[in-house]
Amino acid sequence: MHGLMQDWPLTVDKILDHAKNWHGDREIVSRSVEGPIVRSTYAEVHRRAKQLSNALKGLGVKPGDRVATLAWNTGRHIEAWYAIMGMGAICHTLNPRLFAEQLCYIINHAEDKIIFTDLTFLPILAEHRAEMPTVQKVVVFTDEAHLDPKIYPGAIAYETLVASGSPDFVWGDFDENTASSLCYTSGTTGNPKGVLYSHRSNFLHTLVTLGVDVMCLSARDTVLPVVPMFHANAWGLTFSCAAAGCKLVMPGQKLDGASVYELLETEGVTFSAAVPTVWLGLLNHMRENKLSLSTLKRVVIGGSAVPEAIVRGFRDEFGVDVTHAWGMTEMSPMGTLSSPNARIAALDAETQLKYKLKQGRPPIGVEIKLEDDANQRLPHDGHTFGRLMVKGPFIAGGYFKGDGGNILDEAGFFDTGDVATLDGDGYMQITDRAKDVIKSGGEWISTIEIENIAVGHEKAELAAVIGAAHPKWDERPVLLVKLMPGAQSSKEEFLAFLDGKIAKWWTPDDVVFVDDIPLGATGKIDKKLIRERMKGYVLPTAKAKETA
Ligand code: AMP
Repeated sequence: MHGLMQDWPLTVDKILDHAKNWHGDREIVSRSVEGPIVRSTYAEVHRRAKQLSNALKGLGVKPGDRVATLAWNTGRHIEAWYAIMGMGAICHTLNPRLFAEQLCYIINHAEDKIIFTDLTFLPILAEHRAEMPTVQKVVVFTDEAHLDPKIYPGAIAYETLVASGSPDFVWGDFDENTASSLCYTSGTTGNPKGVLYSHRSNFLHTLVTLGVDVMCLSARDTVLPVVPMFHANAWGLTFSCAAAGCKLVMPGQKLDGASVYELLETEGVTFSAAVPTVWLGLLNHMRENKLSLSTLKRVVIGGSAVPEAIVRGFRDEFGVDVTHAWGMTEMSPMGTLSSPNARIAALDAETQLKYKLKQGRPPIGVEIKLEDDANQRLPHDGHTFGRLMVKGPFIAGGYFKGDGGNILDEAGFFDTGDVATLDGDGYMQITDRAKDVIKSGGEWISTIEIENIAVGHEKAELAAVIGAAHPKWDERPVLLVKLMPGAQSSKEEFLAFLDGKIAKWWTPDDVVFVDDIPLGATGKIDKKLIRERMKGYVLPTAKAKETA
């Protein structure tokens, strides 16, 4: 027997409708790419997004067409998102930090018809124009006065396009399972693959992320999404902030410590989200300039593991609470968060901190399990490592155009490619990407754990651990350290720092000081590139063995 409740398709246009109806004068403030801070409201963004839907229809965009954005976080970018999704077209966020050849591959694979972009990226699109045959029009998030027609002949100024459309447009009115948006994974193995979200999956993800143990957003919050809209949908914030009626502060292209600090203070930001490297930049800026924070209360940090030094720095020096989060593009992206449960909340601050450093527990809508290579369930004992598998209504069931084939196991779980532990409280801790874990004498060593301790050394700016071949143990860990500017150190100093904090047999066989630790397109340490750079490297312990 079916229930007798109303049929109200969960489409994301309803989120912006809600923001316009009930939080219409709440601000969306942006650091524009042209320079000045510009102010808009949900009501204005809603009206302009409708105008844009009409203008896109005029350009021939039909439901199901892919319309891409290659752009920073701004109010205009939000308008384009809702305009595209509301009319049933698919908003494809492109990551400008990818190499041009990867971008071209993705644009061609998605068959993008139109690309919205910022002035910043127009030259690169112009240079590769011939390699993107499906792209019919490029729209630049600016006005005529700022658009130099010589850079990309035929490019349309966004303001002109918006002005050409009437504000009367009926959004939605289609099945909630209709595709809304597309985002390609960073593609650390093989070609990038497209994750195709639906209206329903985004709507459900929005409801879940509003929860108190998740993002805990309210109409009283002012939110600065430093995490880009092209990095797994700004972790859902462009939807959830509109759903809650938060004031939004969009940082544009300036994500350095000084620029982020300025926005936090001038706009009264209470909540923010970003990857660890952004927060390191902010903490360093505040320390160097002896600054404090007057309104910021909470930050969500994810994308890569949060080092202890960041959690302590925020808590002890600036009175800000850190929630550690883990997720993936394939998960819309929120998977787990480190909010305390009742037992942990009753513990002293130092013991609680250990749980903050774990990636956390799943909210409703995310099922997780740990398995070994023979698909056997592993115990939730906090130390057995296994493959982390996930299932839920906002988790990918397949990739765009069938790439990668069937990606689910028999029980419908997706293999995240992460290796993790689960403890008795349900707290998950990532120990590695499956391809980065070090296998030494048949046992696994977590590179992330060593990195996080090493980066807590006051002289370390960044640290990375990789496995190097060893004749007896197969692989042994090598610690690479990028020192703070002007700092001097030694292998012995770092090994002494790790001593007692990790198991003896995890101790790196060598410490190598490097000028650069490369970061990938979403701010994660690029281990593939590090391994390439370290190709000819031989462990001192392996050499000793060879000569013995
Ligand atoms: P992406 O789809 O680019 O967001 O990358 C997802 C991957 O980033 C995950 O599968 C993890 O390997 C990694 N990741 C995300 N958040 C965390 C975290 N808090 N700690 C460790 N790794 C993380």
